Amino acid sequence: MAVSVAIDGYSGSGKSTLAKQLAKKIGYLYLDTGAMYRAIALKVLETAGTDFSVSDISKIVRSTTLTIEQNDSSGNRIILDGKDVSDRIREPDVAGIVSPVAAQPQVRLFLVSLQRKIARGKNVVLEGRDIGTVVLPRAAFKFFVTADINERARRRFLELQEKGIKSSLDDVKKNLAERDHIDTTRETSPLRKANDAIEIDSTNLTQEEQLNTVYRIIRKSLWEKSIPVYWLYRGIVRIVVKLFFGLEIHYQNFEAVRHFSGLVASNHCSNIDPPAVGISVPFGMCYFAKEELNTNFIMKLIFKKIPMLWVNRDNPTPASIKQTIDALQDGRPLLVFPEGTRSPDGTIQQAKPGAGMIACKAMVPILPVYVEGTYDILPKGASMPKFHKVRVYVGTPYKLETSSFSGKSKKETYQLASAEMIERIIAIKNNKLR
Ligand code: C5P
Repeated sequence: MAVSVAIDGYSGSGKSTLAKQLAKKIGYLYLDTGAMYRAIALKVLETAGTDFSVSDISKIVRSTTLTIEQNDSSGNRIILDGKDVSDRIREPDVAGIVSPVAAQPQVRLFLVSLQRKIARGKNVVLEGRDIGTVVLPRAAFKFFVTADINERARRRFLELQEKGIKSSLDDVKKNLAERDHIDTTRETSPLRKANDAIEIDSTNLTQEEQLNTVYRIIRKSLWEKSIPVYWLYRGIVRIVVKLFFGLEIHYQNFEAVRHFSGLVASNHCSNIDPPAVGISVPFGMCYFAKEELNTNFIMKLIFKKIPMLWVNRDNPTPASIKQTIDALQDGRPLLVFPEGTRSPDGTIQQAKPGAGMIACKAMVPILPVYVEGTYDILPKGASMPKFHKVRVYVGTPYKLETSSFSGKSKKETYQLASAEMIERIIAIKNNKLR
């Protein structure tokens, strides 16, 4: 089935670069709908001027042929009545008139139907203002990109400078604010976030971080759909743990983890920690497992449908490390235990560098989780579980700041990265998400 991705947001929020890079990375068709409005605005400017009337618009819409060509380096080439206007539509005179033109219902009717026609039946990334709300309201993925207006103006100003287009930072900011106002207050399909869109605040994110965040969300979600048996197991285990062990799940901020993709770092004192964490986080997850377990017939059967990463714990091969990093970068969340092994007495142990190494290599967000009660149920060495309440505390994701490790050796860096995970888990234990 074709997958469509809708990316909406304010001018200069970074959504164009994001959409273009994303389409390239996942191999989908890319459509810059803003460029289509700009092309019509250019025609209005050239035929009727800035003082256009509704009848001018009617005439223009009826007599226009607009073709969008895919271009690997620049995204789209915009062909207006047979002429390539891709560069011309970026100039300030077009930017100055595009929003009033785009507010005209006839223009929107014409372009929305053209956009839907282009997108039909294909894997696409469409970028604009009304994609998630009007053009593709049933898009599989919807993102809404925001950023502080000063940051947006700075980015747009640099972009214009690079293209050799003269302007001032102040003028660019004024134009953005004006366009924001017209776009959000116009009667026909105003710019707004669709209820089911995921908001990406790009103010403090690099382009690469924005791209990776969105890419991982999409890949994770497509992957989650491909593991139905995992969800079945998870549902059953969750009911059992709720009934027999009174499972309680506490989130610091549920919204912040709903679309999480990265490393989940938890304390570890029992064999039931992996399922306890797995049933508590609102997303699918991969687990590490010792290679030895894969030789046992029963274990093989149980683990067959669970997303496992098989490793030789004492001597991980470069291939298994690569497989782990690839899985994470491809959006699959992974559970790690920075203590390395189960605690012998239920207390949180010193960090081992393994989890830190994975974090430093994959550079994905980290979600600290504190599990309580599992040691009392099944401590190391015990074979029969005892009844005890399980509580899982899910923290908020954080970004690994490798700059704070500058000057350190690789080994020290990995150790510090793991130690930070432990610190954050202990902080949850002490504050219990207050
Ligand atoms: O994205 P870009 O800044 O090139 O868009 C130019 C203008 O086109 C926007 O300010 C907005 O007025 C209009 N637009 C729109 N609906 C879209 C895309 C762009 O109204 N889907």
